[in-house]
Amino acid sequence: TSFGFKEVPEEEKSKLVGNVFTSVSSNYDLMNDMMSAGLHRLWKDRLGRLKLTRASLQPNTPWLILILLFVNVFSRLVSKLHPFPGMKHLDVAGGTGDVAFRVLESINSVSRRAMQHGLAETEEETQIYICDINPNMLNVGKKRAIERGLGENHCLHWIEGDAEALSFDDGSMDGYTIAFGIRNVTRIEKALAEAYRVLKRGGRFLCLELSHVELPIFKQLYDYYSFSVIPAMGELVAGDRESYKYLVESIRRFPNQEAFARMIVDTGFQKVEYENLVGGVVAIHSGLKL
Ligand code: SAM
Repeated sequence: TSFGFKEVPEEEKSKLVGNVFTSVSSNYDLMNDMMSAGLHRLWKDRLGRLKLTRASLQPNTPWLILILLFVNVFSRLVSKLHPFPGMKHLDVAGGTGDVAFRVLESINSVSRRAMQHGLAETEEETQIYICDINPNMLNVGKKRAIERGLGENHCLHWIEGDAEALSFDDGSMDGYTIAFGIRNVTRIEKALAEAYRVLKRGGRFLCLELSHVELPIFKQLYDYYSFSVIPAMGELVAGDRESYKYLVESIRRFPNQEAFARMIVDTGFQKVEYENLVGGVVAIHSGLKL
């Protein structure tokens, strides 16, 4: 189905993506306030002990309202990463810091457990690099790091950069994550090749992305939410219907779960697999560089 959207030429895509995230970052708090208002109680009931906070919501993904009702996708991503003390991790398109904060939390809890069991801590210091093309989004993340008391944390490094041309050395990372980011990259193959290049042998690639829903009734509800509710919300909150329409369109254009898995295999990754969450609203793809 085309849903009446026109093709976006490659050169326009980068500009559109820039506009979306500039618009989104400046309306970040308002958008979150709006979206959390009515659903606050529901989240609490549903998520119980998962400790979902308003600050853990994403700026451009009203889809997350839907997803977070069922499952905490970031925790799922991080549990698949198996973070460890001393690791060098790169989170691409990570402006908001959400993934990086969770990786750090997870590493700290591994360290605490190791110490409780009298196991020596690694000498090497954990390094988490948060790379994003948009400085406004990096500022959102830095601000949130300060709010979390992580402003002076030496493990976190905020770096402006493009997923398609990373500034990191070959074979320098133990892990690579990209959450709700690869869909916005102009040449996905280039971003995948860069992920492969910067990972060490044995390094793990993980990608969390909005994907394709095929379940009949759920698909229709989801389409209504995407094509009617989201653009209306974008207009109301950010005064920017087009950017939010673009976000919906970019999800539809993104390769489906199987096709994306094949792209990851073609890059050279092994043991490639994916997991659908919430019926495919979101999928986590993983691969190893062996
Ligand atoms: N990963 C974060 C999260 O889930 O909280 C932020 C996701 S946000 C939806 C998408 C991010 O991708 C934006 O911060 C945007 O600036 C970034 N982005 C878009 N194109 C990029 C590129 N080519 N390289 C790096 N980051 C990019």
